[in-house]
Amino acid sequence: MAETGRAALFTDTGQPYEIREIPLPDVEPDAILVRVTTAGICGSDLHVWRGDIRVAMVGPGARIMGHEMAGRVYRLGANVSTDSLGQPLKEGDRVIYPYFFPCGRCYQCLRGEFNSCPTRYPLPPVVDNFPHFTGAYAEYFYLPPGHFVFKALEDLPDEMLTPINCALSQVTFGLHKVGVTFGDSVVIQGAGGLGINATMVAREMGASQIIVIDGIPERLELAKACGADHVIDINEAASSFERINKVKEFTDGRGADVVVEVVGVPDVIAEGLNMARVGGSYLEMGNISMGKLATLDPSQWVWSNKRIVSVNMYDPWILPVALDFLRRMRDKYPVHKVVSHKFPLEQINEAFQEAEWANKQTAVTRACIVP
Ligand SMILES: [Zn+2]
Ligand SMILES: [Zn+2]
Repeated sequence: MAETGRAALFTDTGQPYEIREIPLPDVEPDAILVRVTTAGICGSDLHVWRGDIRVAMVGPGARIMGHEMAGRVYRLGANVSTDSLGQPLKEGDRVIYPYFFPCGRCYQCLRGEFNSCPTRYPLPPVVDNFPHFTGAYAEYFYLPPGHFVFKALEDLPDEMLTPINCALSQVTFGLHKVGVTFGDSVVIQGAGGLGINATMVAREMGASQIIVIDGIPERLELAKACGADHVIDINEAASSFERINKVKEFTDGRGADVVVEVVGVPDVIAEGLNMARVGGSYLEMGNISMGKLATLDPSQWVWSNKRIVSVNMYDPWILPVALDFLRRMRDKYPVHKVVSHKFPLEQINEAFQEAEWANKQTAVTRACIVP
């Protein structure tokens, strides 16, 4: 009997996940089969589940979703003996890895712009096709030949490792790209997984002042504990005008040096741009749902020399940097609280219901699945 592993299969918006046993793939000589220990429910997973992004549009079939995860080496390909930093790697070792795979054979990869490789992250293949385990909501995940992988020590609990390969690395790379520097004032729109991580990272990058905006009290409390100087509750400052004015109050009437968008709703962009100072920068990372439009007045940022930087995914070097950051920061910030809820794989449908924040309140910062 071939060995199998459980996976939560997704077919289309509105359909519940279904748990099924899937045969384990034969591991190619340069690949690794990972036993997933924890998988996060990221904002983008909610976009797919909610139907903002329709994966079924690319063709019918069951797929394994999820991308934020950590695990242990279950089976090493015959040619793999080290991680991407040359550390010896063996079965059972804890690992973190990007969930996307730059091809190494294109114009962007040649220039070292791995996060812009056009084929780095194809929509997940249907589960029937080799190597079957191509998403996080399953017991296993297949790292194909050419992957990047990094050994993680045993000193952090699984749920703290989970957000590294998406939320933490994403915001670390984004803040690096937009050029946050010592003394900057930073506004963060959204205090979910990305926003909370961005708060800590901006603080450690030397931001002089951090202002976090959200509508969920638990998230705003956590933002404060993670380094925010000020929070703006959208239920109290209910209009865009009020919120922009609050940011101006906190920044001597100027506006912030850098504004970071990690809400994932196009409506917040115009507001965020107005929160940046003349000559300031806007970092756009949250809006990933295609076809959602925003009404913007470009003259507003041309006349005021505002810079817009959009960032999706990250270069692989950021992963060990993010891991090191987390190890150094775990006693300084309540990083263990970023993952606020845990569910077994069988309860993945409940987990998504619980994590959903559109049109309702949730106390979840990050929920994770323990397959
Ligand atoms: Zn993500
Ligand atoms: Zn490429």
